[in-house]
Amino acid sequence: MTRYLITGGAGFIGSHLAEALVSRGDQVLVLDSLATGRLTNLGTLAGNPRLSFVQGSVLDELAVDQAVRSSDVVVHLAAAVGVKLIVEEPLYSLTTNIKGAITVLEAAHRYRRKVMVASSSEIYGKNSAVPLNEQSDRVLGSPAVARWAYSTSKAVDEILAYAYHRERDLPTIVVRLFNTVGPRQSPAYGMVIPRLVRQALAGEPLTVYGDGTQTRCFCHVLDVVQALVGLLDEPAAEGDVLNIGSSEEISIAELARVIIARTGSASDLVLVPYDEAYETGFEDMVRRVPDTGKIHALTGWEPVRSLVEILDDVAREVISEAGFLTTAPNK
Ligand code: UDP
Repeated sequence: MTRYLITGGAGFIGSHLAEALVSRGDQVLVLDSLATGRLTNLGTLAGNPRLSFVQGSVLDELAVDQAVRSSDVVVHLAAAVGVKLIVEEPLYSLTTNIKGAITVLEAAHRYRRKVMVASSSEIYGKNSAVPLNEQSDRVLGSPAVARWAYSTSKAVDEILAYAYHRERDLPTIVVRLFNTVGPRQSPAYGMVIPRLVRQALAGEPLTVYGDGTQTRCFCHVLDVVQALVGLLDEPAAEGDVLNIGSSEEISIAELARVIIARTGSASDLVLVPYDEAYETGFEDMVRRVPDTGKIHALTGWEPVRSLVEILDDVAREVISEAGFLTTAPNK
């Protein structure tokens, strides 16, 4: 039995990871400010003696110190999420990401705890090379643009993890998560699948930003969780950085069409200029495809769930949300 601390454990990915660890017999302590996380995400674990929850921010040094001290392994997932939030609240996003990582890494170092740090495919910026491997260049615009500032904040998190590993011998693992989707992902922070599935089920137009030719690869959160657990169990992952994602590439316009077909919706898609969707001068990534050869070689991991399974899982969740059914009758 290992005692895991999951910062951001009431969030989308964190809550699924908590379930996976608890179900195999581990102990999980969740530290979450509930700024974007939700207690209902941990509903399946309510009353489970292997789960404990502390409401607190990763910016709170004492809360982090206490949580890290009482754990064996730290998984640092707490972060500002979603391009929309990052563009609208850059100060909050940067502070949470950089200061939060420093606070967690300092505490992990203080108590010599292994720590996994969640990074993001955003660190590659506008590098549209296919596929992106862990050594691929970062291609960024001005730091005055919120998206590139966010990208840099995640890169700083990584650099801190590498530095603690190299200079202080702290066991750290950095994971770069590509587009991760599935049940519990909130539509509130701009992510495309939770938004488009809800729009389709409500009979509203599906908002496709730009011309819809940009592509992404969507990985089911349960596959991502398997990747995280495999890396946590693999000593050879320490000191390293690994991409996690799907290589099933799809354009956003095609995604919208698949969602319409899969949900049997009467909706159509509507193209929304980026300037309207985000802010003037917003730049999107044209393609973003991960090379996951490294994690496959290390742990044998590869995603097993298809895009259709992802969409069905999300649609099922949306349909079962009572609020959705009462606020969108016959739409
Ligand atoms: N997107 C869209 N409509 C939406 C939300 C997002 O067309 O309602 C696009 C977004 O511009 C991007 C892609 O879908 O090209 C994926 O967006 P998301 O925010 O889910 O992830 P990102 O890859 O941008 O981090």
